[in-house]
Amino acid sequence: MTDRYAVFGHPVVHSKSPFIHRAFAGQTGQDLDYEAIDPGADGFAEAVRRFFAEGGRGANVTLPFKEEALALADEALPRAREAGAANTLIAREGRLLADNTDGAGLVRDLKLRHGVPLAGAEVLLVGAGGAARGVLGPLLRERPQRLVIANRTPARAEALARAFAPLAASHEVALEARPFDALRPPFTLVINATSASLAGEIPPLPSELFAARPFVYDMMYGASPTPFLREAARHGAKTADGLGMLVEQAAESFFLWRGVRPDAQAVYLRLRAALGG
Ligand code: NAP
Repeated sequence: MTDRYAVFGHPVVHSKSPFIHRAFAGQTGQDLDYEAIDPGADGFAEAVRRFFAEGGRGANVTLPFKEEALALADEALPRAREAGAANTLIAREGRLLADNTDGAGLVRDLKLRHGVPLAGAEVLLVGAGGAARGVLGPLLRERPQRLVIANRTPARAEALARAFAPLAASHEVALEARPFDALRPPFTLVINATSASLAGEIPPLPSELFAARPFVYDMMYGASPTPFLREAARHGAKTADGLGMLVEQAAESFFLWRGVRPDAQAVYLRLRAALGG
């Protein structure tokens, strides 16, 4: 029988997850169906329960339901607990498990696709929302030399730095929060985990950060470079958008569900071509 999977989001109509997971299934010969479900703003918990009661095997969860997904699972796996949010649900032996593959996806994209070294790196993480929180643990485990969190609302960056201080200490990473205007180069890697690009805006970072030519990453992606990446490239920095992260987090979910690692690069190239970038 064909196994059922889905992505839940609101809105979800533009999600690339059905395309990605159907492509993975085709590559690996897995008999599965993957659909997009929009349960409306208030219908997430009921829609998820119905999906799994009817035999669903796993799901991805996107905005705005990632925290709710963690709360309704029977068991939160360590990455989801640490992130405070889940992007992957797994049905196993009658129980619903929650995991978070966003951080693993980012780390794989940076290291494998873009060849960015993380061990010993000096990392600036811009943003302190769900995406920043989701990637902090996996980034710290790569043992950068230091990691600075900067956010428009500084108190949120400070709270994140406090929450992850024990993990940073155990991996000998200097972790701190700083306001935008107190950021000083050098950084070898700058990651934009804000949603500023959605509004065509750029967080007000001191321009000398880009002049030191770090590798600059924006979690957002699209047909053309985000304003953040354009600004970084103008200063000669190497840049990448978040399309690779999207495909890699999906590959990690697929691996959790099916025990098979798909060829993420092939699907990445198809999506990139479809975007026209
Ligand atoms: P979120 O929880 O709503 O957090 C938004 C963050 O952006 C906050 O830190 C917010 O600062 C900051 N921000 C918003 N507008 C800003 C502006 N104009 N200037 C400076 N900072 C601004 O959102 P999220 O879930 O973390 O998502 C962030 C981004 O990551 C989204 O664009 C999302 O699409 C992307 N993402 C991509 C992937 C992928 O696979 N490629 C995965 C996950 C997320 P305040 O705290 O001051 O409000």
